[in-house]
This record gives sequence, structure tokens and C-alpha cells, in this order.
Amino acid sequence: MFAYPKAMIMDLPGEKRHLAFKALPHELFSKEGRWYGYAVSSGEACELPDEHCRVLSQIPSTFTLFEDIHRHTADMIASRELIDVLQDLADTGFVKPFDKHTRPISSINIFLSTYCNLNCAYCYGGEGRSDSVPGGSYGMQQEQLSREMGRKAVDYLLKTSGTREGGSAGGINFFGGEPLMNMEVLEYIAEYSEEQSCKYGTPKPSLSITTNGLLVDEKFISLCKQHHIGVQISFDGTPEVQNTMRPTTGGLPSYPAVEKAIGLLGEHGIRIRIRATVSNCNTDLMQSIRHLESLGVYDVHFAVASGHDQERFALADHDFKALGSAFDDVGRYMTERTREGKPFVRCNNLLSAMAQLHRRNSKNFACGAGIGLASLSPDGSFHICHRFAGMDDFVIGHIDHGMDYRKRLKLIEQMHSDSHEECRECWAKELCGGECHYSNHEANQRISVPNRQMCDLHRSILKTAMAMAAEIRQHDEETYFRMIDNAM
Ligand code: SF4
Ligand code: SF4
Repeated sequence: MFAYPKAMIMDLPGEKRHLAFKALPHELFSKEGRWYGYAVSSGEACELPDEHCRVLSQIPSTFTLFEDIHRHTADMIASRELIDVLQDLADTGFVKPFDKHTRPISSINIFLSTYCNLNCAYCYGGEGRSDSVPGGSYGMQQEQLSREMGRKAVDYLLKTSGTREGGSAGGINFFGGEPLMNMEVLEYIAEYSEEQSCKYGTPKPSLSITTNGLLVDEKFISLCKQHHIGVQISFDGTPEVQNTMRPTTGGLPSYPAVEKAIGLLGEHGIRIRIRATVSNCNTDLMQSIRHLESLGVYDVHFAVASGHDQERFALADHDFKALGSAFDDVGRYMTERTREGKPFVRCNNLLSAMAQLHRRNSKNFACGAGIGLASLSPDGSFHICHRFAGMDDFVIGHIDHGMDYRKRLKLIEQMHSDSHEECRECWAKELCGGECHYSNHEANQRISVPNRQMCDLHRSILKTAMAMAAEIRQHDEETYFRMIDNAM
């Protein structure tokens, strides 16, 4: 049973003053000195006590923190009774409660190091970089995460594990810059989380890393084995693309080192996923897939490039079109290999779309950013996700001082697909959830306005996944279900 010391609890949810409420469409009216209300969404028609009416009339139609509602109603009702009235109004459909902004973060992207040993053309962490200061710092000071900050991150996850379903301790993804430039703190965090979870009988946070692979060595491999660290390598496929887009800080080709790292991990039986960035010079995804196959890698996720040096690599409309067709090619390749019973490189973009279609999950958000997921910078600040690191408008809290519930609530509302005008009429709304907030922000300087090019690509990927699912399932149900089960 969860037994982490209570005194250490910094930031548990359920503190009612942080809850938010908004008024739902309704009609309030009086007849012969009595008040009545009709709630449109629930169809509830009832007589309402005076205090319920007075409270309801003070609640705006946008989510508002309990403490603000209390401020406006303090002269008529005490806070203890106010929460009961709000509960009644919520039960009858006059108001909607909201608590996503109060939930503890369960997945932390830790910036182990904001230094990097590569100088990628499209580095989105390259804000303010120069020839002497390569990317990875996101405009923040270049520094290594300290042991103390690592310990606090583990404590945070363990302290809040009792609030998650099944007592899960959540997870840590080591990120950067290049996280292996701070292997000492990585090792410390892995050992500390092991020790603490044993000591208090809590589950251990799951660990993973996103690395460029250059510093993969025997020591890292033994840490991966000992602590079950999941490995994702950022690698663009063919030598030509990798060396052009991802040179070392000294301007040298990086392909040989990454190829060696992939080989070493493979020799030790460590399964990896490749995260391949797609720019305007590698929209032929099958070329990347064939190359990965030749290296013995069978899992890839493609991500569209974004970064400060847009001109050199940005995808134009015709590149996006080519990319949509390229995903079709990958879909055909995976379908054919499945029919032939042969191994194939699993494209996570398509598999996760297939799994989502199968599970009929309805999404209101593109991802968990700011809700279950946040990034932790070396200075202790939480941003909604790693891609917003260094951007003050997207800081939602601090590991020492807790969450800024007001700001987090505001951002979560903007991230909800209901706040995206473009999504209202889109057939993919329930499947998409509103597109990556960073990509939206980069394209339109607002997280609530979807990136049009990414929308088209996303819808195209969904159609490819639908066709694949139908064909594979028709051919072999067992294989289809295995693919769905293994997709993440
Ligand atoms: S594809 Fe674009 S418009 Fe459609 S739901 Fe997603 S973000 Fe909204
Ligand atoms: S905002 Fe974009 S980059 Fe950040 S977690 Fe969501 S999908 Fe990923």
C-alpha cells in the first residue's frame, strides 16, 4: 500500500479551492416569489433555493476557479456551503465542474542536459543558438540537471502515485539537449527511484530516454538493462540525410556513431524505437524504412520537422502531399508484409492510429501536455511539454512551489479541441483532439488554431490506417489484434 511520508506531499489534487466550474446553458425565472430553473443539457426543470440561484448567477460560462467564485459570493455564502451548492448544481446539469488542472503530472520529460553534441539544422531547442552555442538549450541557460532536482522529480512522482489509477508511479523520460551528456545524474535518478520505491513499497516510475545515440556505450547499456530504461534514438535514416541534417557540433558526420550505437544496442538485445524527423529532403519514407530494416531496426515514429531555421528544411504544401502518399506506401508495405507473414518495420504513426480507431477512443486533447505530462527544466520549472521549454507563457508550475492552477486551467481550456474553431466541423475531431499544441503555436502563434498542413496530413494518415485495418483484419484477425495490442 502507498506509504510515502505525508509530510512530503507538495501538491495533491482535490483541494477544492483549485477546482473550476462553469455555468452550462440554462434559464432561471421566478414565479410568485419562488425560483425555478431549466438546465438545457440535462433537461432538468426544478425549483431552486435562493442561494443556488444567487450562486448560479455569479458563475461565468468559462471555467472559473472555486476561489474566484467564492470571492464573488463571499457576502452571501460560506465556502463550505458554497462547495455543496456547486455540487448540487453540477449534479443537476446547471454547472460543469473541472479538475484536470489539479491533477498531478504523471509523466515528466526531464531535461537532463541543455548541452548537445549535435548541431541539427531543425533543432527546435535551438532558440538563440549561434555557431559557438549549438541547439538544445531552448533559449534557457545551458546547464546540467542537478542530482537534487532529479531527486525532487522522483519524490514528486512517488508522492503522487497514490492519486493515480492502480497507484502507478508514472514515468520519467530523459531528454535534452543530449541527455547522455549528463549520464551521472541519469544513473543517480535510476538508482534513487529504485531505492525509494523499495523503501516505501510503491511502484517504481518507468524510465525511458530520447537520445541522439552518440554517447551510447557499454555503461549506458548496462544501466538500460539494470533499470529497464526504454530507448528511443533520434535518427533520420539514410547516411545522406543524417549527416546533412544532424552534423556534430564540430561539423562532422554523425551517421557512423549512430550506426555503431544501434549495432551495440542490438547485440545486447535492447529493443529500440527510432524517432525520425521528416524534413523536405526525406519525404520518401520507404527509403528510410528500407534503411532501418538493413540495420535491424523494426520500430519507427516519424515526426515532421519544426525549428528556427525554417527556410532550409520546411515542408511546403507539395511536400506535405508527398508525405501523405509516403504514409500510404508505408501502409501498403506493412499490409503486404503482414499478409506474407514476414517481419516489417512497424510505423508507430500508423499503428497508433489503427489502435485508436479500434478502441474508439474519443479525444478532446491532442496529447497529455499540461494535463498528465510536463517537462522539467534544470531550474525546476514545469512547462506543458518539452517543446515549450524556455517559453515563459507555458510554465505551469515549479517543482518547489507547486502548480499555477490559474494558468494551467487557462492553457488547458485553450488546448481543448472545443476551443478550436476549425475542429468543430472536422470529421476527425474525435480522433485527433486538436493537433499538436506546439505545431499549432509555431504555425499560428496560438495553440488554439490548428496547423492546417498538419491537419491535412493527420486526416490522410487516419484514412491510410482505416484501409490498413480493414484489409489486415479481413485477412487475419489474430494478427490484427496482436498489432492493436502492441501499438502504443
Ligand atoms: S485535423 Fe485539424 S481541424 Fe480536424 S480535428 Fe484535428 S486539428 Fe481540428
Ligand atoms: S504538444 Fe505536441 S510535442 Fe508536446 S506533447 Fe503534445 S503532441 Fe507532443
